Amino acid sequence: MVAEILSVGTELLMGQIANTDAQYISRRLSELGVTLYRHTTVGDNPARVKEALGQALDRADMVITTGGLGPTEDDLTKEMVGEYFGLRMALHQPSLDAITSYMNRIGGVMTENNVKQAYFPEGAIIMPNLCGTAPGCIVERGGKAVAVLPGPPRELKDMFDRQLAPYLARRSGGHIESRFLRVFGIGESRLETMLLDLFHSDNPTLALYCGAGEVQARISARAETVEQARAMIAPLEAEIRRRAGDAVYGVGANNSMAQVVLEMLRARGETVCFAESCTGGMIASALVDHAGASDALSEAYVTYSNEAKERLLGVRAQTLAQFGAVSAECAAEMAEGARRASGATWGVSATGIAGPDGGTAGKPVGTVFVGVAGPDGTQAREFHFRGDRGWVRTLTCGNALNLLRLCMLRDEKA
Ligand code: ATP
Ligand code: MG
Repeated sequence: MVAEILSVGTELLMGQIANTDAQYISRRLSELGVTLYRHTTVGDNPARVKEALGQALDRADMVITTGGLGPTEDDLTKEMVGEYFGLRMALHQPSLDAITSYMNRIGGVMTENNVKQAYFPEGAIIMPNLCGTAPGCIVERGGKAVAVLPGPPRELKDMFDRQLAPYLARRSGGHIESRFLRVFGIGESRLETMLLDLFHSDNPTLALYCGAGEVQARISARAETVEQARAMIAPLEAEIRRRAGDAVYGVGANNSMAQVVLEMLRARGETVCFAESCTGGMIASALVDHAGASDALSEAYVTYSNEAKERLLGVRAQTLAQFGAVSAECAAEMAEGARRASGATWGVSATGIAGPDGGTAGKPVGTVFVGVAGPDGTQAREFHFRGDRGWVRTLTCGNALNLLRLCMLRDEKA
């Protein structure tokens, strides 16, 4: 099945809001294995909405519209879909009842405009709005379909996940199951080369997505049942894991590096302390983003100046003088110092040049050292990241956590 997204809203064209709805739907469609070739955005203009809808329907089996579903005059998407197909607008009584009771509940006054929200092109499948007033709908005609979704992102996501996604899976014949393998430390092009022969299959399909310092490999399978789809995914997953090895750190779209590291620490009953220079607390914060962080973290240090590195972490003045604060030696002593000062199982450090200033010929902007001190000794690794200050810090954070993860894995194998 080929789909297109038609975003309706003058605010989008004026740059007042970003089109996060299209981004969300695109991501979900790719998870569902639905092919998407185009996004179109038009303003709240009846003729242009209708024209864009017609063009999209000429190319695609399914058009998903967002926005212009509300009660006001400029909300006309649904009406244009009806006009395009030559369908009259018909009252859907259950929707009118739902809107009336929603308005009563929030103490609003029911207006003529609200009544308009209960009218749909005749024969449409109605999708109730559980987060707002405007229901959505699906209009099927001549083997094609148009799904009309509300603009407000919270309403859109809820309606997509609860109602449109199951419809799409049914329509594309059976069940679509996807699995995301998260890979850290192998770049997108290198991973693609490693997996090259695995991209040829139609079902299951394999696709790579680039993230912050990581790549996600999506495997999607289509089958009559969930169980069959999962059984088709399993051998491909095993093969990817065999080739990518320990670089596969997690599964699922919401499974972050920090969360994986936290779960490992908790399972092992171990603790960590961070000594951060260029990341300024980001690494500790990434861990604290997840519930249960207090099991593994009791303190962390932000030591930005040399003086703080000496006073709080016991980094030696001679190390700083001889090698500088951005060095493997300093990263190692910072990690050891954090471990010693806190009594944690692991000390993890990061020191680097985030830019835009501060680089030298020998240590250009993006030079970062990460250290891990643990029960079996200390190691430090050098990285050279390209990008702006925020990007360098984000990559440092991910790589510091990843190095800790690899140290714990090595422990388990030993
Ligand atoms: P309402 O009932 O609020 O009028 P609607 O379905 O008519 O909803 P719009 O009027 O087009 O939708 O947009 C309402 C609000 O939803 C916008 O002000 C904006 O905040 C948000 N919104 C609309 N379209 C998008 C989009 N494509 N991406 C992100 N947000 C959007
Ligand atoms: Mg509106």
